[in-house]
Amino acid sequence: MAKYLGPVCKLCRREGEKLFLKGERCFTPKCAFERRDFAPGPHGRSTQGRTERQSDFGRQLRAKQKARRVYGIFERQFRRYYSVALRRRGLTGLNLLQTLEMRLDNVIFRMGYAPNRATARLLVTHGHFLVNGRRTDIPSMLLKQGDEVAVRGGSRDATYFKGLPEEAEQRNQPAWLERDPGNLSGKVLRLPERAEIDGNLNEQLIVEYYSR
Ligand code: SF4
Repeated sequence: MAKYLGPVCKLCRREGEKLFLKGERCFTPKCAFERRDFAPGPHGRSTQGRTERQSDFGRQLRAKQKARRVYGIFERQFRRYYSVALRRRGLTGLNLLQTLEMRLDNVIFRMGYAPNRATARLLVTHGHFLVNGRRTDIPSMLLKQGDEVAVRGGSRDATYFKGLPEEAEQRNQPAWLERDPGNLSGKVLRLPERAEIDGNLNEQLIVEYYSR
C-alpha cells in the first residue's frame, strides 16, 4: 500500500502548524517547526509572518490536506472514506473523522502502542498485530465496536515491544478504547465522539471541499 515517504516535518511547515507526525521529537526543541516556522521552499521565508488572504477554496483545500496528512492517507483513499461517510446516516464530517479514527493503524497509535501513526502502520505491515485473534497486515483495516487488538505472541520478545508496557502506561488513553498495556492488547468500546477527536481538524470545510 502506498505511503508518503518524503520529509514529514515539511508537511507541518506547509500547514503552518504542528501536526505531531513524529512522536516524542515533536515535543522537543528539535522540532523543525519550532526552528523554522515558515513554509518550505525558496519563497517560504519571504511569506513568514504575513497573513495570507485565502479564498474559500484555499481554506477548504488546506483543511482537507491537513486531515490527510495527520492520518497519512493519499487522496484516492481519502476520497473513498468521504464517499463511505456520505452514505452513512448522520453528519458527513463526523462520519468521516470517525471512519479515519477506526483505522487499525490509528487505533494502535491511540492505544499508545506506537509513537505515531506511521510507526503503527509499519508494525501492522510487519505482521506484529492480531485483530480478534487473527494476524493482519492491513493498516487501513476499519475496526468496529467490540474488536480486539493484541500484539502477536511471537512478536512480544522483540526489543521494541519489551519496554512498551511502561511507555504505553504513560500515554493518554481515549475513553472510547480499552487497553491492557501489561498484556499489550486492547479493545474498541465504541465510536469516538467529536470532542475525542483532534479539535484542530475542520470537517465542515472538508465536506465543503468535496461538495463543490
Ligand atoms: Fe511536525 Fe513533529 Fe516534525 Fe515538529 S517534529 S515539524 S511537530 S512532525
